[in-house]
Amino acid sequence: MQIFNQKKSFFFEINLLRLKKCVPLHSKLLVMIIAKTIKDLQTAISKSGAKSIGLVPTMGALHDGHISLVTRCVKECDLCVVSVFVNPTQFNDKGDLERYPRTPEADAALLEKNGCGIVFMPSVEEMYPQEDTRHFNFGKLEQVMEGPFRPGHFNGVAQIVSKLFYAVKPQKAYFGEKDFQQVAIIKDMVRQLQIPVEIIPCPIVREASGLAKSSRNTLLSDAERIKAVKISQVLKESVNLMESKSVKEVIEWVNNQFSDDSEFRMDYYSIVDGNTLQPIDNWNNNYIVGCIAIYLGKIRLIDNICYKK
Ligand code: AMP
Repeated sequence: MQIFNQKKSFFFEINLLRLKKCVPLHSKLLVMIIAKTIKDLQTAISKSGAKSIGLVPTMGALHDGHISLVTRCVKECDLCVVSVFVNPTQFNDKGDLERYPRTPEADAALLEKNGCGIVFMPSVEEMYPQEDTRHFNFGKLEQVMEGPFRPGHFNGVAQIVSKLFYAVKPQKAYFGEKDFQQVAIIKDMVRQLQIPVEIIPCPIVREASGLAKSSRNTLLSDAERIKAVKISQVLKESVNLMESKSVKEVIEWVNNQFSDDSEFRMDYYSIVDGNTLQPIDNWNNNYIVGCIAIYLGKIRLIDNICYKK
């Protein structure tokens, strides 16, 4: 594995030579390229000769949740491209951006081990040479759940993901259902921008305890990490209440489970239609998902559970 950028074009050429030896070139390459510029990224993609390209956008601090997306991408595409970029425009809280864990070396090693062909690790200047002033309108999709609590978040997500789609031109892109609302937003964005990419939602990967894997979990203290298990436990238990309680009562019950512990602070628990993301008031819909965002100490965690599909 080598890190390449334009200034290290010698190594870049060497890497391409090594790539050529691995004909046919696909994501099971013997070497992984790390590109830091869009130019190097596109050179590496075109030299790979891959017919189908898959993209996994991430913000790094990679864990098994991310790797599940990479594994699926490697299986389904000739070339798996993973981006690792902590995107400033999607953070509405500066402290959150500063605290966000960054582990590029460990990320690259993990990606190489898991069959990634190219990892794209650009700088902020590379992705935003000038301010991105685009304003997306996701209508009702962004007026619920994360929308009101994180103003500008989905606009920032759409800015960076559209830039990545334009740079990589993947046929398929992989997103985790852990960020349930994000999947719906991205699907709507590619429809609006008419980008020819298939969005592949992938199931949530959890720790043995049930806690949804998240880069932010590394920011929890040991005690908080144990406490955080309660989130998935409560969601799971709430599914059993569907028979005996109304939607409103289940929402109340979930809120009550956290109300006696001041370390937890609920942003929202919403039970929504899985397609429209709009809150429902009865169990008649065919696809029903419960989505939670809750602080544990300083760390904001999200999770969701499917009631019906
Ligand atoms: P992030 O680095 O947090 O932006 O996440 C990058 C991608 O990995 C997003 O599509 C996430 O939804 C997905 N992801 C993160 N955690 C998990 C998880 N526990 N299970 C499945 N996908 C995940």
